[in-house]
Amino acid sequence: MSASDRPQSPETRVVTGGRRPEWTAGVVNVPVWRASTILYDDVAALRAAAGADTHHRLYYGRRGTPTQWSLAEALTELEPGAEGTLLYPSGVAAITTALLAFLKPGDHLLLPDSAYDPTRAFAMGMLKTIGVTTTLYDPVIGAGIAGLMTPATKVLFLESPGSLTFEVQDVPAMTRIARERGITTILDNTWATPLLFPAMAHGVDVTIMACTKYVVGHSDAMLGSATAVASHWQRLRDATYQLGQHVGPDDAALGARGLRTMAVRLRQHGDLVDPHRPLAGRAGGRRAGAASGVAGLPRTRHLHARFPGSAGLFAFVLDGGGDAGRVALIDGLALFGIGYSWGGYESLALPIDPHRYRSVTRAGAEGPMIRLQIGLEDPDDLIADLAAGLDRFRAAR
Ligand SMILES: *Cc1c(COP(=O)(O)O)cnc(C)c1O
Repeated sequence: MSASDRPQSPETRVVTGGRRPEWTAGVVNVPVWRASTILYDDVAALRAAAGADTHHRLYYGRRGTPTQWSLAEALTELEPGAEGTLLYPSGVAAITTALLAFLKPGDHLLLPDSAYDPTRAFAMGMLKTIGVTTTLYDPVIGAGIAGLMTPATKVLFLESPGSLTFEVQDVPAMTRIARERGITTILDNTWATPLLFPAMAHGVDVTIMACTKYVVGHSDAMLGSATAVASHWQRLRDATYQLGQHVGPDDAALGARGLRTMAVRLRQHGDLVDPHRPLAGRAGGRRAGAASGVAGLPRTRHLHARFPGSAGLFAFVLDGGGDAGRVALIDGLALFGIGYSWGGYESLALPIDPHRYRSVTRAGAEGPMIRLQIGLEDPDDLIADLAAGLDRFRAAR
């Protein structure tokens, strides 16, 4: 077997993906091509271009340049079984476009109760106004999802683990049922990325990432992606073009720069967050009675084995106490910033109240909850910072 025949590991593909010689023109990174107008040699060339497929051909700025094509191709190469990837100006734009691509008036959507709040807001808002109905389901329903499907069901949306409460879904069991019935499955795979969960191998039709998080990785750009299997590619691409979705070349280049180090960063982010021995448990274990549990774990522990490692985002439940204790814990942290988003190199802490965004399941927390994004700082420094925070919490309680 020659070197080029050997199947490459995903860690290698994040480095090599999308770097075609005709796009890099000899430099390591694909240059930033800034373009709206593309000039044609003559009228015949213009007419020929207008009638031809624009895929990977300069046509007009909105259809991209090698800068965007390269990142999209790299993301496709990360997901075995994928046909292609489209880029969006944010993760939310990727989600709303994918939903619009596969839903029309009269259709029915199944959405997990733990979905990212803006996804839920889009279903309850704009999708409702165009006549799409939504049923929110318990994220750990598994094969029981069959009981909620109707002849009108056209999309089964998945997000695993769920936002804030981190329930891991039985993706293969659910996609198998959806595929039998011709229902499109769309997975928000932002937490795991294809490195921790190759979604298409588990039967997903369209996989979405808020690249703002781990792909960009440095908290300095917004970006989204949607990757589709062949049977769903054309429809996703048509909807994306019709909605005028486009990512500027500078943001695409930041995404590509981040992607090259994503595998090593994820390893470091996740090192402290072994799902069976999470950081909060380790820091709290030495101070009995501070943390009572980790969100999502009790109901879905058996499914964590599907992830070969962990990402660096999780939430935990404080053992009783009130908001004042939680605020004292967070406000005094030296290394954890207070802010939205995650996936950058810096650690973050956020008070969360998931019950505000749940309809059919209880968030189930017996105490205040905190979400942590573990950054790339030294683990021992982070543990010391959190241990001091848990002391503040106990003192305030
Ligand atoms: C942040 C996030 C999004 C949205 O991404 P933006 O780039 O902020 O629009 C979608 N899904 C999940 C799970 C997220 O955490």
